[in-house]
Amino acid sequence: MNQTAELTRNQSLVLGVLKHAAAPRSAYDILDGLRGDGFRAPLQVYRALDKLMEIGLVHRLESLNAFVACSDPHDHAHHNHGVTAFAICEDCGSVTEFHDEMIEGRLAAWQKAESFTPEKTTIELRGHCRDCVQ
Ligand SMILES: [Zn+2]
Ligand SMILES: [Zn+2]
Repeated sequence: MNQTAELTRNQSLVLGVLKHAAAPRSAYDILDGLRGDGFRAPLQVYRALDKLMEIGLVHRLESLNAFVACSDPHDHAHHNHGVTAFAICEDCGSVTEFHDEMIEGRLAAWQKAESFTPEKTTIELRGHCRDCVQ
């Protein structure tokens, strides 16, 4: 399945900004970067982001209210209902995306025991990456 082939121009432009960004970008950062490409309103950016998140090419970082390109969209295809965790460096802004089946298993077991129906799960670690801690 080639999801990127189905993107609209606006979606491709927004994805391009995030792929080339060294750190997460807010919707307003993205809009600023795309004014020369005909973007005028935040709504245009939000619409594109909604679709990109729906198909798993972009993730929203709740604690930053910002967006990152998925580091491994193919992994999500094999990992449909998995939990995605993010380690966010507060010094350089780098974001490392990872999946851990042990965490997923523990959360799933708790949700089952509590009869809790999750809509979304957010795991974000804030701190200092290997390069910045030295
Ligand atoms: Zn991802
Ligand atoms: Zn860092």
